[in-house]
Amino acid sequence: MILMALIDELQKIVGEDWVTNRPEELIIYSKDMTENEPCKPDVVVMPKSAEEVQKIVILANEKKIPITPYVAGANVGGLAIPTKGGILIDLKRMDQILEVDESNMYAVIEPGVTFGLLKKLLDDEYPQLRYSYPLAPPYTSVVCNALLSGLGNLSVRYGSMSDMVSGLEVVLPTGEVTKIGVCAVSPYWIGKHPLPDLMGLFINWQGTTGIVTKMGINLWPKPPIVKNAVILTMGGPEDIYTSLIFKLVHLQVCDEIAGGLFHYEMSRGMLPVDDIKGMITAIVKVDDMENRSFFLTQLTVSANDDKELKQKFKLINKLVNETNKNEGRQLFLFKTDDLADIGKKIDNFMELPSQIPSLYDIRAGGGLTWVGSYVPLNRWLEGCQRGLKVMEKYGWVPGVLHRPMKTGHYSVMRFFIPLNKSDPEELKKARKMCEEIVDIVLDIGGFPYKVPTWAAKKAFEKTDPNFVGLMKKIKNLLDPNGIMNPGRLIF
Ligand SMILES: Cc1cc2nc3c(=O)[nH]c(=O)nc-3n(C[C@H](O)[C@H](O)[C@H](O)COP(=O)(O)OP(=O)(O)OC[C@H]3O[C@@H](n4cnc5c(N)ncnc54)[C@H](O)[C@@H]3O)c2cc1C
Repeated sequence: MILMALIDELQKIVGEDWVTNRPEELIIYSKDMTENEPCKPDVVVMPKSAEEVQKIVILANEKKIPITPYVAGANVGGLAIPTKGGILIDLKRMDQILEVDESNMYAVIEPGVTFGLLKKLLDDEYPQLRYSYPLAPPYTSVVCNALLSGLGNLSVRYGSMSDMVSGLEVVLPTGEVTKIGVCAVSPYWIGKHPLPDLMGLFINWQGTTGIVTKMGINLWPKPPIVKNAVILTMGGPEDIYTSLIFKLVHLQVCDEIAGGLFHYEMSRGMLPVDDIKGMITAIVKVDDMENRSFFLTQLTVSANDDKELKQKFKLINKLVNETNKNEGRQLFLFKTDDLADIGKKIDNFMELPSQIPSLYDIRAGGGLTWVGSYVPLNRWLEGCQRGLKVMEKYGWVPGVLHRPMKTGHYSVMRFFIPLNKSDPEELKKARKMCEEIVDIVLDIGGFPYKVPTWAAKKAFEKTDPNFVGLMKKIKNLLDPNGIMNPGRLIF
């Protein structure tokens, strides 16, 4: 189909103002913050409703034109770069929170709803409810995050955000619109059980099997008291990951346990480093902070009353003291309430996703990439130490995040790699480094999450061929013309 005719058809669907092929706009959609190769779409369209999405998909399927769904493009893996051109569907205008069911604790939202929007509504109008917020910019999509198995500040309790999906409405690549889960038969978006679980046809498929136009998400009770604390060590991750982390997770008193290894200078713009420096120099008595790394773990604890809170912190304190005593560690536990102004600033920072700083490169070029993965908790330390050695070998300042998930059934290991995007040599070097780290992830029994295409090739080569064969069959069945986000995963 000639481009002008396509634009004309798209304008008939969404209106003139919501279709563009202006080069200065296409370029924005052609790349993200990572080292992944840019590629421009031919045209960008911004629908307002599921009906409009459906009409666009029917048109694209008939004419065999590639489609890439998109909200903020902030997945840090090149997953919304339209590698085969075609139509990029930007879903930002579909930003309605359609329903909040207080008693059944779920919300039904459109794909353009951001973490910022959701949190504002819940905090203002449903303060007794909360969602799990990632350490991500507030303008990113709640739906995309759940579709990519994101992780947030309730993940240690409840698991990945994909475990919190309680219903879907999807436009299939051939144009049918279908509901998935109990919402397919009832007005309530309460979950997927006991129907056959078809959510798995859309979660972690990176938009290659359909476009989600509505999602039900579990909300969770928010107890009246929520307090933060920090466990800090100037030693490495081994101070925590030998025995403490398992005991801490199994105590089940924390809503959130997450943190990582940060280098002071490299954390500028990412953490409130000057406040942390103040805290560290005052309490830990270290004076050459600028050249040091520190391993910091944030804890969030909630309670129904002061007595419960006190008891929970007593248990945590006891664990930390025992670890110091029995293993000769130097771990410091601070409640932010005890740190006056510095504590308030740290609380502010932890109030996700309000002031999420960038992890982008602070030197130049504003780039960021990472190897994020889910790994067995008992292999985390080994993977972390091997990955950090690789980062050092390539001359990167070592940085890694950790977050035990779902009471320790698995864990996040994410190496973060700020990039100077204006230096092509650095981009090549970063890719080689990431490849080596992905090998380590696979070697310790984990799998990269939000898997970029280059890593998918590596990872699926090591995957049971019958599993990969089944994926291909499902893809062909749902998307016979291969129009949906081509180039992703193994497609
Ligand atoms: C600095 C930084 C920190 C971050 N920290 C975290 C973190 O702590 N935890 C975490 O989980 N994430 C984190 N992220 C990642 C990011 O926030 C999430 O992955 C994000 O929510 C994805 O939203 P998006 O709007 O950017 O999606 P996009 O990048 O636009 O899309 C993501 C993928 O979904 C597909 N897609 C888009 N819309 C649809 C649809 N409606 N139906 C089907 N497929 C669709 C796209 O084609 C693409 O493959 C971080 C990102 C940054 C930049």
